[in-house]
Amino acid sequence: MEANKPANQAVPDRGALRLFHFPLRFQNIMQFQQALPTLGNQYEDDLVLRSYLKRSVPADVLREIKPTLVEMGRLAGGDLYQMQLADRLNEPTLTQWDAWGNRIDWIELTPLWRVAERIAAEHGVVATAYEQKHGRFSRVHQCALAYLFTPSTDIYSCPLAMTDGAARTLLGSGNQALIERAVPHLTSRDPKEFWTSGQWMTELTGGSDVGTSETIARPDQSQHWLLYGRKWFTSAATSQIALTLARPEGNPAGGRGLALFYLEMRDEQGRLRNITIDRLKDKLGTRKVPTAELTLDGTPAQLVLGTTDGVRNITPVLNLTRLWNGISAVSLMRRSIALALDYAQRRTAFGALLSEKPLHMDTLAGLQAETEAAFHLAFLVAELTGRAETKEIDEEQRLLLRLLTPLMKLTTGKQVVAVVSEALEAFGGAGYVEDTGLPMLLRDAQVLPIWEGTTNVLSLDALRVLVADDRALHALKAEVSRCLVSVHDDRLAEPARIVQSAMAHAESWLAKARNAGTLVLEAGARRLALTLGRATELALLCRHAQWSQENEGNGRATVAARRFATSAINLLTAADL
Ligand SMILES: Cc1cc2nc3c(=O)[nH]c(=O)nc-3n(C[C@H](O)[C@H](O)[C@H](O)COP(=O)(O)OP(=O)(O)OC[C@H]3O[C@@H](n4cnc5c(N)ncnc54)[C@H](O)[C@@H]3O)c2cc1C
Repeated sequence: MEANKPANQAVPDRGALRLFHFPLRFQNIMQFQQALPTLGNQYEDDLVLRSYLKRSVPADVLREIKPTLVEMGRLAGGDLYQMQLADRLNEPTLTQWDAWGNRIDWIELTPLWRVAERIAAEHGVVATAYEQKHGRFSRVHQCALAYLFTPSTDIYSCPLAMTDGAARTLLGSGNQALIERAVPHLTSRDPKEFWTSGQWMTELTGGSDVGTSETIARPDQSQHWLLYGRKWFTSAATSQIALTLARPEGNPAGGRGLALFYLEMRDEQGRLRNITIDRLKDKLGTRKVPTAELTLDGTPAQLVLGTTDGVRNITPVLNLTRLWNGISAVSLMRRSIALALDYAQRRTAFGALLSEKPLHMDTLAGLQAETEAAFHLAFLVAELTGRAETKEIDEEQRLLLRLLTPLMKLTTGKQVVAVVSEALEAFGGAGYVEDTGLPMLLRDAQVLPIWEGTTNVLSLDALRVLVADDRALHALKAEVSRCLVSVHDDRLAEPARIVQSAMAHAESWLAKARNAGTLVLEAGARRLALTLGRATELALLCRHAQWSQENEGNGRATVAARRFATSAINLLTAADL
């Protein structure tokens, strides 16, 4: 015994513990090591994506695009994922002044995002949709790449979505000078040539009601436009260009009085063109995305097309960013489940792996069903977008695309938050601990119902479409009917009945609500939109399940359809009228 230590306070060392009868327990605790969840090739492992592509893309096209998907799946489950985990604590920084007192407003991105930008360019995550090597299927191919890429890059999909939207908007504008100047950069595969674009709409006055925007456009003495105002949320503030809205002086108030402008953020010397980056937002999630508040004080800009109708003219950006939003939503759902499933095979509780616990696996099955339903809706919008881009779209499909874009965005935006939240619980306490990388998934998911149009704003948008043209609902009903006509399996009869009943209720509700007046109609718009969204998802899932049985001999999607059918599909109640 040490001379100065009183005998009754002696700390037992491990040798001493061995004298008693608990050294075994002690050893177990010390030796237990929880294996961490891992990811394999995210294309190879994704039965839903692979089965969907087999059904929806011609075999020769699939053969050609498959290597690009395998490679992106490898990166997403391998190098990029490891880099994402290592980059967890890094965030973009804004340096406003240099050592000599010059205002520089320089944003430094994190290492992950710098790599993500290079990979996105090289793998054509935007370009694929414009090269159109496979006609209308190019958009599905590009969305599949984005779906694999997004969850390992902490939402690098944000600048890519806006870049895609800007390229499409400029191409559609007919403004040849801007097309020649910017589109080759926006759609380049060369990282040195590749540009991204911002989309600056939201001001302090509102992101939903952008017609209230206060930014003014004034011509200078040479009749060049200069912009003055504050932009309140500008993600991807490191982009080379932006499309933005401003009101040419003297124009009337409201959305029609705004014009769509193109601007380049920096001059040839790399200086910001009369733009001050006031600060970066301190956000719940998407923390790698440099979302800034900007002041424009005479920023040179060019009209994209015309001096009015900016809100209408920027719509192509919104259509594509909403598609990206839905693809991102399903990709985050898929990622959270992939990790939870892997973990279930590594975590033991009450004497067995979680993967052997019926209730745990039933919980994950519910999430999987929700995800598969969302997947088919998001990719249907990708298919229709591809048709529109190659002009292989008829009037009914055009209306369907117009209606499904907001329905898909708002439905998947709600699903992703619920699914990822539940998936985190599947890890127990680890799901709540930051250095697992898991909480970030939930924080990032939470932005998806908010940006690119909130759930309510998009519900009202869908309602406007339904009220303006009865053929929109007919187009949706026709698509749903086509899905259900193909369904013969008895096990899918009840899900099919649930779809029909929800669609019929939505139609009758809409007719009655229109008679009841605007208050009733608007108040129920979200429940109507979610009912149509979820019913369409179930119809698409039933169609795929039937196909998968017949062509792959696989009943997995049938189980998913039956499970999804037990969730709330029809959200309209009698009390709504
Ligand atoms: C991380 C992040 C990044 C962003 N990046 C960009 C960007 O790059 N560019 C850009 O332009 N914007 C960006 N935004 C802004 C985003 O698009 C807006 O926040 C969003 O459109 C909502 O606008 P708002 O914040 O002004 O909310 P508001 O418009 O004030 O809405 C507040 C609430 O009112 C509801 N509401 C509004 N109108 C109605 C109505 N008529 N009926 C019922 N409910 C209604 C909304 O659903 C919402 O719940 C970003 C936002 C976030 C969070």
